[in-house]
Amino acid sequence: MRQKLAAGNWKMNGTAAALAEVDALNSHSSIAAVDVVICPPATLLSRMSERLTHSSIETGGQDCHPAASGAHTGDVSAAMLVDAGAAYVILGHSERREDHGETSALVCAKAGAAMNAGLTAIICVGESETQRDDGTTLTVIEDQLAGSIPDVVTARNLVIAYEPIWAIGTGRVPTLSQIEEVHDFIRTNLITRFGEKTGAATRILYGGSVKPSNAAEIFHVVNVDGALVGGASLKANDFSAIITAL
Ligand code: PEP
Repeated sequence: MRQKLAAGNWKMNGTAAALAEVDALNSHSSIAAVDVVICPPATLLSRMSERLTHSSIETGGQDCHPAASGAHTGDVSAAMLVDAGAAYVILGHSERREDHGETSALVCAKAGAAMNAGLTAIICVGESETQRDDGTTLTVIEDQLAGSIPDVVTARNLVIAYEPIWAIGTGRVPTLSQIEEVHDFIRTNLITRFGEKTGAATRILYGGSVKPSNAAEIFHVVNVDGALVGGASLKANDFSAIITAL
């Protein structure tokens, strides 16, 4: 049985005042039955980790460098995220693949470093609108999975997030059967590569314009084990409603 997971990606949003949002989540009762992680900007990570008192809510980073330390101005290592209280890190988000030219090979190196440091890596995959229209979605996903996931995987240190790029921040969501097709494909891929035990136990999240109004129907889709939520994770009311729908 896979424990459901709601992951909030605050992206480059929030200063100290935004930490008040986590107070409402601390007292949210239905969170006990699921796992919740919030990934704030690096500047808030340590303060958020201290402020979250609910035992089912953890924090995560939004990226890490593959090296443990060194001359990498502006970067943060996996060990630094752990030091700031993080249990997870989002890797290979399409905004990093696009804005920073991150390749799957780099994502794989980062994931290896994250797992080595004891973090759970949430590795993002997803097709562009052109790829969806061209009918190459599953090939794109297959390539990203093959290139981005290191071999050192256990069911506990890996989460996959399927995020169609055209659905992120747009209010557009794939049909439920499109979501099911890709999640089934990812499940089969994980089982083939890592074996039945690990592949069947690894959580697969859907991400892209998840809101309180559409969360429940998405969570009913087979092999959807939760969500990676951007915009709707910024306000405790919206994120709480999504968590309740899990
Ligand atoms: C995301 O950026 O991971 C995301 C899913 O964003 P949104 O929920 O705003 O579409």
